[in-house]
Amino acid sequence: MSTIDLSGRTALITGSSRGIGLAIAATLLDAGAHVVINARSEGDELAAAARSLSLAHAGRVSAIAADVAISGDAKRLVRGAFDVARRLDILVNNAGILRDGLIGMIADADIQAILQTNLVGLIHVTQAASRLMARSPSASIVNIASIIGRAGNRGQLVYGASKAGVIGATLSAAKELAAQNIRVNAVAPGFIRTRMIEHLKPEIYAERLASIAMKRIGEPQDVAGTVLFLASDLASYVTGQVIGVDGGMVI
Ligand code: NDP
Repeated sequence: MSTIDLSGRTALITGSSRGIGLAIAATLLDAGAHVVINARSEGDELAAAARSLSLAHAGRVSAIAADVAISGDAKRLVRGAFDVARRLDILVNNAGILRDGLIGMIADADIQAILQTNLVGLIHVTQAASRLMARSPSASIVNIASIIGRAGNRGQLVYGASKAGVIGATLSAAKELAAQNIRVNAVAPGFIRTRMIEHLKPEIYAERLASIAMKRIGEPQDVAGTVLFLASDLASYVTGQVIGVDGGMVI
């Protein structure tokens, strides 16, 4: 039997005060990693997430408030994560926002916010982290893309563009960072039960559910399991891949 052991490694998971990021943090913590969680504000949610992780799991948890959409914040976040144990081995670029709108109705502010958070933020964090991760003997970056970045969807022009950008960034980073032994992969979730999809109208929710071959919505844990594999040495020869975690969803 083989178990995944990440003990001694530090993992930074952006956007991890709830949802998919929080499930990833719990999973990496269970595997023995020090985890650094993050959200934009120091508010109750980030503090509560850090508390609940510390109570339910052995291992070290740190929380750093920072907005990945702001370049200076992204650098401070990465430096803070590295300073926990003077190493950074795993980066999960998970922070993301969703604002749907038909093409003619999208406000400039929404275009800016989505691209800046989902794509530019990921680039800034990757720039800062890759320098420090080059010192790790087993470095892995996992980017959270989306099925929408591959298949597109009505009302998701900007979100889809941001997530297609995440896939492009993953492929290029994988090629460039292989020389430093940093693996870079992406996970493309389908329809996952988190606050991000809470606002959906019941008929849209039913339509999405009907498009999933496995006939169930995904859970954050479903995504976390694939991230754990990619972060671990089981995936030591895997780079530049995009793995769908969508229950066989067809859009
Ligand atoms: P949630 O809205 O539940 O969680 C998003 C997390 O990101 C929160 O912790 C939020 O905290 C944080 N966050 C948002 N903006 C920033 C920022 N600028 N800087 C730092 N942290 C930030 O979303 P999900 O868990 O559903 O989504 C996680 C990722 O998965 C996203 O990239 C999303 O696009 C992707 N995804 C989700 C799918 C789904 O069906 N749920 C499907 C496909 C992909 P706060 O708001 O306090 O900053």
